[in-house]
Amino acid sequence: MSVELPETQILAEQMTDKILEKKIKSYDTTDTAKLQKIGFMNKKLKDYARLVGCKVKEITYRGNVIRIQMNKKMNLVLCPDYGAKILYHKNKETLPKKHHLKVEFTDGTYLTIRQTGMGLVYSATDQEVEDLYVIKRDFSDTPSPVGEHDFTFERFSELLDVKGQNIKAAIVGKTAVVVGLSNAAFQEIIYKAGIHPKRNTSTFTDDEKHELYDSMKQVLNERICSGGKDNWLNLYGEPGRHTPVMGPNMKDKDCPACGAGIEKIAHGGGQVYFCPRCQR
Ligand SMILES: [Zn+2]
Repeated sequence: MSVELPETQILAEQMTDKILEKKIKSYDTTDTAKLQKIGFMNKKLKDYARLVGCKVKEITYRGNVIRIQMNKKMNLVLCPDYGAKILYHKNKETLPKKHHLKVEFTDGTYLTIRQTGMGLVYSATDQEVEDLYVIKRDFSDTPSPVGEHDFTFERFSELLDVKGQNIKAAIVGKTAVVVGLSNAAFQEIIYKAGIHPKRNTSTFTDDEKHELYDSMKQVLNERICSGGKDNWLNLYGEPGRHTPVMGPNMKDKDCPACGAGIEKIAHGGGQVYFCPRCQR
């Protein structure tokens, strides 16, 4: 399952709480070949050795990307895009059997990262960070849908108009007008806004754009406040409490608002569940 902006924000905040000022004692990598081949882990495993002796100074995040900044100009960049278990362990007793990267701190605590889908686990110098694809993608000029007060409705509306594209392309992926969202958030947002998944943004009325903007803020803020999605685990291995209003969990069910049967279409490289009556 995918990790989106709300879960990334929660992870980054929990990391700030737990690993700030900790010094890396050692590391271990396993089962890395596949991720290395597609460039999601460093080609040379000894690049991770550069993290040893470094102290965590700051944790920043944007979109789906977490940058753990250390002294000695080093960084660990995580992008759990298509699913990952990123866990903190107060001792070795809770260490998982499998990890892609395990980091031990000098106080005997650990951080383990296991990608369950595609995603980045990368050791990089301050200079190398700038060249990473996910950094260019998410630490970009594209607005974040929550947490940035200059991302006003006017700006959102302007961006939708400039691009004039299918609503999914406007919310998810390379041409999106916001960072950090994927198919899961998309389904919830357009259901709440009453917009059909096949609509083009150039046909939106002002009211529809307002509905979309408000729904996006509402869905994401609600998910952050509820500790993330209910099928996702946070840094402490605890599930979130947010049950999606629309998505695969609504398969074969009726719309709670109008009673119509929920439908599913293949759209934009994924399955989209929607209410054929409420979403126009
Ligand atoms: Zn409905």
